[in-house]
Amino acid sequence: MYEPSDDLRDLAREVIAQNKDLCHLAVPELKIVYMYSDKEKFRNGKYVFADTEKINDKVKALINIDFIVTFYTKACEALDSEQLRILMHHELKHVGYDAESGKCKIIPHDIEDFRDIISAHGMDWTVGDG
Ligand SMILES: [Zn+2]
Repeated sequence: MYEPSDDLRDLAREVIAQNKDLCHLAVPELKIVYMYSDKEKFRNGKYVFADTEKINDKVKALINIDFIVTFYTKACEALDSEQLRILMHHELKHVGYDAESGKCKIIPHDIEDFRDIISAHGMDWTVGDG
């Protein structure tokens, strides 16, 4: 079951407002939807905490959404509020948005910005999320 979450949306707004590296996401034309799922998702034998998907152009023609960020409740139960905040920051780093062209893409893990979060917070997010 998937459920849109106002709590996650509010958390994302806070995280975007508090982090300069995310300030390009604070634009009304970029539509991100936040959801909880009770699905248990695994990758390489480990729980997936959260993932971020880009809506493809065909679906975007039907619904005005650019990205969906999903938090998996069973995996996230073990996280405290600070870890949830870090997880949200991490997921939002996957959102690639170019304000000039309006183009959206998923940013993969293998870039410097992600290393900052991974090394700062000491969690192996590369297997912990999508
Ligand atoms: Zn990730």
